[in-house]
Amino acid sequence: MARYIGSECRICRRENLKLFLKGERCFTDKCAVERRNYPPGQHGQARTKISDYGLQLREKQKLRKMYGILERQFRGYFSMAESQKGVTGENLLKLLERRLDNIVYRLGFASSRGQARQLVTHGHFRVNGRRVNIPSYLIKVGDVVEIKEKSREIPQVIESVTRIEGKGLSPWLELDREKLRGRLIHIPTKEEIALPIQEQLVVELYSK
Ligand code: SF4
Repeated sequence: MARYIGSECRICRRENLKLFLKGERCFTDKCAVERRNYPPGQHGQARTKISDYGLQLREKQKLRKMYGILERQFRGYFSMAESQKGVTGENLLKLLERRLDNIVYRLGFASSRGQARQLVTHGHFRVNGRRVNIPSYLIKVGDVVEIKEKSREIPQVIESVTRIEGKGLSPWLELDREKLRGRLIHIPTKEEIALPIQEQLVVELYSK
């Protein structure tokens, strides 16, 4: 399974947006976007005019990097979104939100989507009582996601779980804090997802 192994903060600086790829560090003043608020590289501070295509491309990259997905798989999500009823851009956001690694992150079992992805890959989660180790597994309404009993001892999980109390829960999810078990109550709306992304630009890019 291919994945990006470069600097995550560099991605945020490129997009000039905090994508929250590094867990708790993103909430501290060590955040690279806060410290160096310009694109990375030799010409990062040069003035550049961005074309319409450039705007669309950057918007697509933001969304893709936020969820940690490589180009080919992202295109696959776009094709799925296009074939569904409704607005393609919103369908795309809803599909991305239903990924198991994203649900694990949203439930607060991991401090970032990247960490959630690793925990899922290592088989620490069950969906409806069955072990699932595929981060892209799409959760359906009513599905129950829980941490395996043994896995509750993992330091990363303990750390994330202790922070759950102070965090707000996404309105489309339900969480049993005692049993460390969550459920998808409904598919979120675009307004509920509330990401700083203009998904229409992504649709325009892929519709060329
Ligand atoms: Fe992005 Fe987090 Fe790095 Fe800040 S600390 S630049 S939000 S990954």
